[in-house]
Amino acid sequence: MMTATHDSATPDERSRLAPSQHPEEAITSSAPYCLASREGHPEKTIVTVGGVRIGGGVPVVIAGPCSVETEDSIIEAALAARAAGAQLLRGGVFKPRTSPYSFQGLGLAGLPLLARARAESGLPVVTEVMESAMVEPVAEVADMLQIGSRNMQNFPLLRAAGRANRPILLKRGFAATIEEWLLAAEYILSEGNSQIIFCERGVRSFDPMTRNLLDLTCVPLLATLTHLPVMVDPSHGVGRGDLVPAMGVAAIAAGADGLIVEMHPHPDQSLSDADQAITPQALASMIARIERVSAALR
Ligand code: PEP
Ligand code: MN
Repeated sequence: MMTATHDSATPDERSRLAPSQHPEEAITSSAPYCLASREGHPEKTIVTVGGVRIGGGVPVVIAGPCSVETEDSIIEAALAARAAGAQLLRGGVFKPRTSPYSFQGLGLAGLPLLARARAESGLPVVTEVMESAMVEPVAEVADMLQIGSRNMQNFPLLRAAGRANRPILLKRGFAATIEEWLLAAEYILSEGNSQIIFCERGVRSFDPMTRNLLDLTCVPLLATLTHLPVMVDPSHGVGRGDLVPAMGVAAIAAGADGLIVEMHPHPDQSLSDADQAITPQALASMIARIERVSAALR
């Protein structure tokens, strides 16, 4: 059985604690995150989301509003995301808001709207799940489940995600170390789900000028530590739409496998995170730039 005592476990104890489904990886890794570790698993994992391959060398962009708001607006956003060159659609139906008085998302009622937006646009959909009991109903519609920053160490949720038959976008806790993040992925892996993408979304800093401090150092660092793909969310990372494209391009230059970006056809009408939403035009121009950067690096 996995325990939370890995930080004090010896390598021997770790291999004994490691789950049985990947014994060859468990015994060849000296890292506490034995299944996520690149040691003993040198080839990169490619995560496939609704037919879109992430981690295969071509950056993938997930774009869409912070929240699913109405049927018309999510369809409009999906068509705009596709026209701008994004391959996947995002949109939260369960929103982890700091204040209980802020818009909380449509909940389960938002899922059919996401499904309709997928049908209209052909883009697979990514949406957040906040509690274990919701993993099954959300997985029935979503092509990838997002675990948000505030839930990175919700261990029952991580285990439930590990039993889901869907890829997981695991966001970094805003005060989590990289080792804690890798160990969070280990909870999912140890339940048998190896389709995980790490998503850097900024850590809390001392400077109120931006929402968070986008830690792009983690991108090349994770590439040495884990075989799993890494994406970057510059939207929550900086919290300001005007800075998002530059940091998206920088993330790709640092080696990220893709981006998740908040885009709204009418940013000032967003029901959540309006300040960081970019327009479809800004998204299209950022995608053109990341394609040039990524081609230059190949
Ligand atoms: C989101 O992507 O909608 C979100 C809430 O992000 P985070 O968990 O990174 O704050
Ligand atoms: Mn948001």
